[in-house]
Amino acid sequence: MKYAGAHVSAQGGVENSPVNANAIGARAFAFFTKNQRQWFANPLSQKSITQFRKNCEKFNYRPFQILPHDSYLINLGHHEKEQLEKSRTSFIDEMQRCEMLGLDRLNFHPGSHLNAMGTDECLKLIAESINIALGRTKGVIAVIENTAGQGTNLGHTFEQLRAIIDGVEDKSRVGVCIDTCHAFTSGYDIGTAHGFRDTFGKFGADIGFEYLKGMHLNDSKKQLGTRVDRHDNIGLGELGEDVFAQIMNDPRFDDMPLILETPDESLWPAEIERLYSLVV
Ligand SMILES: [Zn+2]
Ligand SMILES: [Zn+2]
Repeated sequence: MKYAGAHVSAQGGVENSPVNANAIGARAFAFFTKNQRQWFANPLSQKSITQFRKNCEKFNYRPFQILPHDSYLINLGHHEKEQLEKSRTSFIDEMQRCEMLGLDRLNFHPGSHLNAMGTDECLKLIAESINIALGRTKGVIAVIENTAGQGTNLGHTFEQLRAIIDGVEDKSRVGVCIDTCHAFTSGYDIGTAHGFRDTFGKFGADIGFEYLKGMHLNDSKKQLGTRVDRHDNIGLGELGEDVFAQIMNDPRFDDMPLILETPDESLWPAEIERLYSLVV
């Protein structure tokens, strides 16, 4: 089964996110468990947690259809001790929020070396950060998102994602999320049929589909290999619509959240409908 949806608002409380998802016809959704531009927030109230679970049940969203996203401030590979500690503490808090909500995965951006250390060293630090967080939580999978490779962001190659996974002790609680826009601008030509085949063949060989815990479905305003992260609405960007037709018809992308993070939210209901109409 395909579960497509979007990254919806949780304004007014996390319990509103499944309501917002249902309103746009989403069969999967992503959301922030707290303000994504803040390091820390008040704990989730019991009322909020209970209502979130009730709403998920009401609208038929099970944990594997939900992909919460962490704060943008967190850098699990930061070279400064204080910043690294802050990132780790904030990440553990995010993982615990997911655990309290009964969710089984948290999507995050791996980290940046900020030109202060080597790539390998930074990847090791990120893996160590994940190990610490897994030791402090139960049942939540740390889902590493591939990046466009903008600036000093790591995680823009399958080899780098693999290196992080290699450093994680509990392999049952680490996964990846592939963002189509990021894959394309980081240099994977998924816009053509043979490029799609090669890229996901390589993904299967280097990482393995057993680690794939979600997808971000975004078109790209920027061209192949530019390493710039600018999402576009489906079919309107440089990537084109074919890649989404491929994904919607490929069983390797079954039973996981397929999440739109496209800029014009008013198009989400139509985009979700369009994705399902691509299924042949
Ligand atoms: Zn994304
Ligand atoms: Zn992005």
